[in-house]
Amino acid sequence: MKDMQERHFGENEDWSWHRKHGYSPVINVSGTMTGLGASRAAADVASATAEAMGHFLKIHEIQTHASRVIAALTGAEAGCLTASASAGISLSIAGCMTGLNPARAEALPRDPGPRSEVAVQMGHLCGYGAPISTAIELTGATVRQIGQSTLAMDHQLEAALGPETAAALYVVSHHVVHYGQIPLRRFAEICHSNGVPVIVDAASEYDLRGFLQDGADLVIYSGHKFLGGPTSGIIAGRRDLVRAAYLQNMGIGRGMKIGKESMAGAIRAMERWMERDHAAIRAEEKAALDLWMSRLAGMPGILPRIVADPTRNPLDRLQVEIDPAQAGTTAAAVCRHLGELDPAIIVRDHETELGYFQLDPCNLAPGQAEMVGAVLAEVLRDAASIPVLPGDDDRARNGGARGYLGWLAEA
Ligand SMILES: *Cc1c(COP(=O)(O)O)cnc(C)c1O
Repeated sequence: MKDMQERHFGENEDWSWHRKHGYSPVINVSGTMTGLGASRAAADVASATAEAMGHFLKIHEIQTHASRVIAALTGAEAGCLTASASAGISLSIAGCMTGLNPARAEALPRDPGPRSEVAVQMGHLCGYGAPISTAIELTGATVRQIGQSTLAMDHQLEAALGPETAAALYVVSHHVVHYGQIPLRRFAEICHSNGVPVIVDAASEYDLRGFLQDGADLVIYSGHKFLGGPTSGIIAGRRDLVRAAYLQNMGIGRGMKIGKESMAGAIRAMERWMERDHAAIRAEEKAALDLWMSRLAGMPGILPRIVADPTRNPLDRLQVEIDPAQAGTTAAAVCRHLGELDPAIIVRDHETELGYFQLDPCNLAPGQAEMVGAVLAEVLRDAASIPVLPGDDDRARNGGARGYLGWLAEA
């Protein structure tokens, strides 16, 4: 195994930053995961972030700049930046509760006021590392559940909306139930005919315009996922509601504040997205997928295929199904094994109970596609030697909590 690592990982990869600080080298083929540092910033995004560190400025001015760039990027009237998409959800909801009333903003969450319910389809009440209901309830609002997990009907949404409704939240994500949910256009029609604004959590979605076109009043994106910015959240939409969300920095938003450096980096990342050659990046990702496909072809019990993203992001992945009877191991065991290599290869493992894992090509550094293909081929050629351990089955499910509980656990 040591020998294999020396052959494939070679010297062309620079792990000196990791080695200097004692961090484990990681090759991320799982996606934009908070637990792995989300994304890698391009050099100009990093330098824009660093450059801001040396200056004072009027903070509302850089938020005005951000608003203009968010408007250009999304087609929205206005926008603002905050600490994260999760913060964006809380601030957007709080803004819908208080409007432009600073006294009411300061009173949250203690006094949620007369409009304090947030309607959400039950199938959208997901987690993204934390429960989305927590992002709602941090404001003092309560969740008004619509329908059942796999079915929401128009009349159920209608019946839930009233004078106590502050907003309705709609989630677009691989984390939510993918059938039986009200389409956004219909959802927005029903909400608007009842005078209720619609907030869309699209943290991880490449579509920066479609949700506003489909009727969203506010849309929230992560700055540090596909956009490759520093840790940040983007709120885009109706000017009055963006202003009310921004006002929350006088209250619950203080602990969610974004600094000048992250704003400068997020602005550069958004500009870059508008400039970048998306077709060329897709072609690179496609080349990685084709390479991996060819490396895994013809192995007994290993069934690779290219699959589309569940929310139609323009990003395909390689899905590797493992037939335990033929391969002599399981998808979950392979994920563990790859994660124990040095550098660790972290694959997309949250559906391993269905017998497969996935490789996401969106975060590859130069040379890593070849490296991952070679290591994967070598590991899977000898798949039967990977033992199936008792913890494998539930690692993806319980790993989040175990990670936190394990931290500093040994005094
Ligand atoms: C990642 C994600 C979030 C949280 O984003 P952060 O910017 O990390 O707070 C919220 N909602 C969805 C659907 C996500 O995928």
